[in-house]
Amino acid sequence: MLEIAALSHFYGKHQALADVALDINRGEIVAILGANGAGKSTLLKAIAGLIRPAPGATLRFEGADIAAVPAHMIVERGIALVPEGRGIFGELTVAENLQLGAYPARARAGEAERLAKVLALFPRLTERMTQAVRTMSGGEQQMVAIGRALMSNPTLLLLDEPSLGLSPLLSREVFRALAQIRESGVSVLLVEQNARASLDIADRVYLIESGRNAGLGSASEMKNNPDIQRAYLGKA
Ligand code: ATP
Repeated sequence: MLEIAALSHFYGKHQALADVALDINRGEIVAILGANGAGKSTLLKAIAGLIRPAPGATLRFEGADIAAVPAHMIVERGIALVPEGRGIFGELTVAENLQLGAYPARARAGEAERLAKVLALFPRLTERMTQAVRTMSGGEQQMVAIGRALMSNPTLLLLDEPSLGLSPLLSREVFRALAQIRESGVSVLLVEQNARASLDIADRVYLIESGRNAGLGSASEMKNNPDIQRAYLGKA
């Protein structure tokens, strides 16, 4: 459903991405592993239309060229980003944040059913609908951020470090939700520092190093690869 080739991006003179290629098939969870500063967030931002790729890139979604499509129209095509740091509105309530997610035209029909699905996915949000988001725990805020993205009725969900700063218990809840989101027919592209958890739920994994593709394989191949075990799974 998503095809990326020759994707480069420069911040001034600094090249953050160099000729990156990546594909996502419908129904997959694809994980991206890479060290800090490897360019993972930049890649998600380029897909979401928040930054422009350098000329010559191919970005196709559902067969259509999206390389020059602005961010608000990328959402209308069915791609939703849960940014690092969540990007939710702390002063607003859970209900208001979720409602904002349903603002895109593609999301207006079926809003009530989608809200019911989000609350089934994250039951603990149900009793907190009128609570200001800034008063919630990091894990609960992450649930609101994921819920808000789902309210836009996406077919592809992009997540940047969803377990960052969460307790092990709440991280598990977030990963369990991602598996359920995929079961519901939404494809997932996941950037995560928790390599173990992302290898456990992903179908395929891309390695990005210094802004370049550095490896690709099924999650099970990657788990058994000694270089990956050393670099990302803390094995000697
Ligand atoms: P992390 O896991 O630390 O978030 P990352 O793999 O997501 O890292 P990016 O945030 O994509 O990496 O950054 C890639 C490179 O681009 C880094 O060297 C970073 O310092 C640089 N960079 C990112 N954003 C900007 C910016 N707005 N201006 C200048 N340089 C930037």
